Amino acid sequence: MIELNLILLGPPGAGKGTQAARLVDDFELPYFATGDILRAAVTDGSELGTVAKRHMDAGELVPDEVICGVVIERVDGPNARDGFVLDGFPRTIPQAEALEEAVSKLGRRLTAALLVEAPDAEVIRRLSGRRICSKNQHTYHVEFDPPKNEGFCDQDGSPLIQRDDDKPETIAKRLEVYHAQTTPLIEYYDTAGLLRRFDGTRLPTEVHDHIRATIATLRLESDL
Ligand code: ADP
Ligand code: ADP
Repeated sequence: MIELNLILLGPPGAGKGTQAARLVDDFELPYFATGDILRAAVTDGSELGTVAKRHMDAGELVPDEVICGVVIERVDGPNARDGFVLDGFPRTIPQAEALEEAVSKLGRRLTAALLVEAPDAEVIRRLSGRRICSKNQHTYHVEFDPPKNEGFCDQDGSPLIQRDDDKPETIAKRLEVYHAQTTPLIEYYDTAGLLRRFDGTRLPTEVHDHIRATIATLRLESDL
């Protein structure tokens, strides 16, 4: 069986994290979400967190030289030998090039770049209603995916909070940054033959079924 080295692309709020959680369950892959890693660093008050917080609060990207090492160290780690799911990285062309270099050094290659697409208006609705649990960053939506107990996580009981950068002013900035800095990756991965597109406006289960079917096809093709 081939290793699965997957990246998830798409605007903030398209449902990357929601789909990643399902893929990780399906294929038992390690999951590296740069946003989660950076938020944990902010909570810990580490040097990485201090640098990252400024940029995150402003809705801007953390500089490439800060984030690349953080990800590459994990991709290179012992639990990623059979593959990984990267969510939120790469977000710029230099990040994609750094990943490419790191993966080829290991004698491996990316399996696919999974693009989850959703228009700006939908993304704004989703980010405005997103709530995450304060303990493990489990994700909910006040309207589309409410918890059983209002305000508390179904999985670990911790209080739900709104991310600072899910406030309206920052959402607008993040979308602008996505269109300017991250969308060039769509062409980059298309040219490399790695891009697979998914309609993120469908129900989470439908998006998931579609991604799973695509991965099954990729595996079949690689076995031929
Ligand atoms: P979303 O899930 O809404 O797409 P993330 O949780 O992935 O957002 O990211 C939150 C913030 O963390 C970003 O707005 C950015 O400031 C920072 N960040 C996350 N990943 C990266 C990255 N690959 N490069 C630079 N900054 C990043
Ligand atoms: P991303 O990781 O791309 O920023 P998330 O997975 O955190 O996106 O999803 C953003 C918000 O939208 C969350 O509140 C989540 O519950 C909700 N959501 C995710 N997928 C869907 C979907 N297919 N339909 C409706 N809401 C969704």
